[in-house]
Amino acid sequence: MSLSGRGAVITGGGRGIGRAVARALAERGASVVVSARTTVEINGVAKELTAAGFEAHAIACDVADEASVRTMAEEAVKRLGTVDILVNNAGIALSNPVKRLALEEWNRILAVNATGTFLCARAFLEGMIDRRWGRVINVASVAGLRGSRYIAAYTASKHAQIGFTRALAAEVADQGITVNAICPGYVDTPMTESSVSRIVEKTGVSPEEALERILALSPQHRLIRPEEIAHVAVMLCDKNAEGINGQAIVIDGGSGAH
Ligand code: NAP
Repeated sequence: MSLSGRGAVITGGGRGIGRAVARALAERGASVVVSARTTVEINGVAKELTAAGFEAHAIACDVADEASVRTMAEEAVKRLGTVDILVNNAGIALSNPVKRLALEEWNRILAVNATGTFLCARAFLEGMIDRRWGRVINVASVAGLRGSRYIAAYTASKHAQIGFTRALAAEVADQGITVNAICPGYVDTPMTESSVSRIVEKTGVSPEEALERILALSPQHRLIRPEEIAHVAVMLCDKNAEGINGQAIVIDGGSGAH
């Protein structure tokens, strides 16, 4: 499969899953824009990809800010010509029991994970509809499909992201566009490193024990690699994936299998 001639925007492309997705799409020939708030990270990824012979640009953006998303979208179209693939990957996590969850924390996590997905999808949708081809891939989480302790805001935001995925998929199903969610379990990224640190901080266990608690949630007793998420993102861009629409694809080593 070649994605040559396709423009792709990956939010949260400065590290972790977004960085791996950007590389995988570029390796298939897509021209990519990596976007996030930390310019040094997105510049680094764009530089890395350009040095490897791919077309890559860095554009700073806060996905929770409507004006910032609008500016990023305009700039992305200028650089890429068209944006055919949007990977809504930018996200934040925090944990707190509900009784201690501040309204500001709740609002921020919903704004980035859920509203950010809506704002970015809306910004690129018209172009996809005009060309009757598009792929919107929302990096959600298994937390978007079930509930776990202490992550109510994150869980609500990821449920919202999946609900939005399904609704938008239905809305554009007859216009050549597919909209899907990828739902990872714990992935080997800086976000999971922060989760380990939070467990250490809140419970006093060692970093090894904290990681073990996370690994114990995986039937394969391991963290998912960012490349595994990228693999599915690339697959969803294939011509033969056009029937996959409105799905929430779980990549967690099989926790639903028993
Ligand atoms: P990560 O390593 O922390 O990277 C997150 C990326 O999102 C960074 O580039 C970050 O850059 C960007 N970001 C955060 N807030 C943003 C904002 N307001 N506007 C624009 N960009 C923003 O996290 P990751 O593990 O790669 O996670 C990527 C996605 O996968 C997230 O949606 C996460 O919820 C989901 N996920 C992760 C796991 C996991 O175990 N790691 C599991 C399931 C789902 P800046 O901070 O510079 O903006």
